[in-house]
Amino acid sequence: MAFLDIKTILTLTALTLFAVAGAMSLVMGQQLSPAARAARGSLIAQAGGWSAIVMAEFVWDMPLSVLAMACGSLANLLMFAALGHWLGERPGRLLLRILCVAMPLGYALGYGSYPFRVGWSNALLATQFVVMATAALWHSTRSAEMGWRVLLALCYGAMSVLTLGRGILGGWFTELYPTFVTPHPVNVAAQMMANISLVLSTVAILVAWRREIEIQLERQALTDPLTGLLNRRGWLKYGDMVVAQARRHHHSVGILMLDLDHFKQVNDRLGHEAGDRALSLLAKCLTTTMRESDVCGRLGGEEFALLLPRVDETSAAALDQRLRALFQAQSGDTLGITLNFSSGLAFCDLAQPDALKQALMKADASMYQAKANGRGRMYADANIPIPDERVN
Ligand code: GH3
Ligand code: MG
Ligand code: MG
Repeated sequence: MAFLDIKTILTLTALTLFAVAGAMSLVMGQQLSPAARAARGSLIAQAGGWSAIVMAEFVWDMPLSVLAMACGSLANLLMFAALGHWLGERPGRLLLRILCVAMPLGYALGYGSYPFRVGWSNALLATQFVVMATAALWHSTRSAEMGWRVLLALCYGAMSVLTLGRGILGGWFTELYPTFVTPHPVNVAAQMMANISLVLSTVAILVAWRREIEIQLERQALTDPLTGLLNRRGWLKYGDMVVAQARRHHHSVGILMLDLDHFKQVNDRLGHEAGDRALSLLAKCLTTTMRESDVCGRLGGEEFALLLPRVDETSAAALDQRLRALFQAQSGDTLGITLNFSSGLAFCDLAQPDALKQALMKADASMYQAKANGRGRMYADANIPIPDERVN
């Protein structure tokens, strides 16, 4: 591989990185997520780093070389941050930070000795790559998708081995690798790998970004934009999961359906915006009153539903009372009008395949009974199917 000219590959790496970073800006647009911005920043930092190395051959050898080391470290820090956004907290953050400061610092301080600076910088850079590969592969609850993560880890893994090779060559076999552009096979392989890995990691970044947008869209499709609660689709989806769990663990699942009373009058008298505020207020009261395991959703208009695992009628009625008192007090305070709701309680018959939908219909019917009998109250479905002794 000695016939390959390092300077040419180096220049090509820097130019390709600039082109890729520019193209990413173009295709990703302005409204970037923090993860995508950090990943793009990482590519720009790499472009800066490789260009500084190319230029250091001609001018300001030391400052530009130190700058190149700093840019390489910064690129890893930024990509680590992107992985954190995409996958959740990654291990090794402190270690990476130390390595990223120590690498250019040691390089600058020991610049006078070529074996030291090459050995030091490459060894620390190789360790950074190991941290990065681990971060890409480390278990994540956010993304089960492994393709792009494995691709990224392979790039970092290969870069780590070849960078370490460069370090050993420069530190201990200096006569074989007296300058950065020496066409030693390890050096050539490392530089070619830098080129390949920049292309592959760009692919990985684009896939991760696409996945991020998909997750965002999925979330949006299940969320009510006004209140931030689940919409009907989302509520039914999570509800099915809760019912499946209840079947496994033999516990009850209650549904409390709520509908604001005389809500049309609120809109008519105070305006649609005040109506929206009332809906948001009820959503807030619901989320502060319910338990963490409850599932709350806005099923439509001014209709809400709470899915209550492990409750009996008494505790559900108590929750309804607490919620009602809170909503009445807060609507009076913030809207200047005391609002109330009618509600219906029903329990899932877990023996039925469509237990959730059936119970929802029963809760709805009970709620209309509450409406018909004066509003501002809760009615429970008379036929409560699971008097479960394991309720707690
Ligand atoms: P009832 O006590 O019988 O439930 O009477 P109501 O006035 O609450 O019920 P009705 O079904 O007659 O009216 C519901 C109103 O809810 C009508 C609709 O304009 C209003 N509404 C539905 N969605 C929204 C929303 O997102 N924002 C606002 N401000 N109003 C909404
Ligand atoms: Mg209503
Ligand atoms: Mg209604």
